[in-house]
Amino acid sequence: MELPFAESWKIKMVEPIKKSTRAEREQWIKEAHYNVFQLKGEQVYIDLLTDSGTGAMSDRQWSALMMGDESYAGARSFYRMKDTITRITGFEYVLPTHQGRAAENVLFGVLVKEGDYVPGNSHFDTTKGHIESRKAFAIDCTVDEAKNTQLEVPFKGNVDPKKLDACLAEHADKVPFIIVTITNNTAGGQPVSMQNLREVRQIADKYGKKVIFDSARFAENAYFIKMREDGYQNKTIKEICREMFSYADGMTMSAKKDAIVNMGGFFATNIQEWYDMAKVRGIVCEGYLTYGGMNGRDMEALAVGLDENTEFDNLETRIRQVQYLASKLDEYGIPYQRPAGGHAIFVDAPKVLTNVPKEEFPAQTLTIELYLEAGIRACEIGYLLADRDPVTRENRFNGLDLVRLCIPRRVYTNNHMDVIAAALKNVYDRRNEIKRGVRITWEAELMRHFTVQLERL
Ligand SMILES: *Cc1c(COP(=O)(O)O)cnc(C)c1O
Repeated sequence: MELPFAESWKIKMVEPIKKSTRAEREQWIKEAHYNVFQLKGEQVYIDLLTDSGTGAMSDRQWSALMMGDESYAGARSFYRMKDTITRITGFEYVLPTHQGRAAENVLFGVLVKEGDYVPGNSHFDTTKGHIESRKAFAIDCTVDEAKNTQLEVPFKGNVDPKKLDACLAEHADKVPFIIVTITNNTAGGQPVSMQNLREVRQIADKYGKKVIFDSARFAENAYFIKMREDGYQNKTIKEICREMFSYADGMTMSAKKDAIVNMGGFFATNIQEWYDMAKVRGIVCEGYLTYGGMNGRDMEALAVGLDENTEFDNLETRIRQVQYLASKLDEYGIPYQRPAGGHAIFVDAPKVLTNVPKEEFPAQTLTIELYLEAGIRACEIGYLLADRDPVTRENRFNGLDLVRLCIPRRVYTNNHMDVIAAALKNVYDRRNEIKRGVRITWEAELMRHFTVQLERL
């Protein structure tokens, strides 16, 4: 008999979690203004809000914490981290920051000007925020296939070369750089192929433009390239990473994702001029150049995490768990962005709650229903997150309206996946009775989904 697949680690420490009653959850979600960000962690049974900073560090990472050098300047831990980043990405200049958006802040602060255009593939919300708050435009050039959740293609996160070329042809003098998000989080944790990265590089070169990778999940992207793209089956994840980054001029990184630390990030590049400009802002916003908002011990854990998570076994365990959850949803007929992404399943909410009009936010409604059903906290990646158009102030209903079930790294077992799938099935089975959604009672101008207040209709 062939042996079944199992995790490439065993568990050394556990954290108890608690169930609640439906009556308790009704009360709590009401107090949270029907916004799951405003729930307390203790009010959640299985937390799928994000995979950001929620992973379980390994024994090697915990022991690396003890090796932290807390020198204000020139800490040994910084150099250990920098050397690891350079080895994996090829970038020599490394500016640490407290998390990914801070790397965006220090870099975009020097590169993005009012009236600029920044093309990319489904800019992440903080990335879009850092562009739009500078009165520049984030131009989405994702392939059209990403909009059809039922289409099964291997690299749904790709940049559409025609759209990118058209944007550059029209606005080239106002484009400070192209940004490629690997994996494409907003489109469903979908990977970008090596072929596509190469094409983006060629188009950038044609117009004399630079390319930045938003790299939060670059290791998961490398795993998909190895599994799905011709010519990479026999390459190691680290070899694939080196080739990916050879097509970029710089990277911003949220280390809370693929470096499996609870906090941290960085900007890295080989362009000294970029580093020199960014480091001035880094000192103002983040801290001195060899810590940038992190502790020495955090940088030690980051280095180990990055090294571990650019190994095949660790990535395989993670991504196969996401695929396991997907197979359960297949069994129940629940529609999600296909194929399953690297870090999450994105349920296609308007296809589930067909009676809820878009003006009443189907994905947010489904998020609330799933919490009420079983205390599972998912996250709306849809019309609320899309914010309003900066010019017309209208809601942006032209994209997808998804519920993200985001799986923290090395935290839950497949038994938890079974509970999630069953809870979703229960909601799915009574989907026709759900006829109304929610209405906004208060919202912020930018990135409203974090703080929005809602009422149920
Ligand atoms: C999380 C994330 C960011 C922002 O990083 P933070 O660490 O949350 O500030 C940027 N881009 C992508 C693709 C992300 O997933």
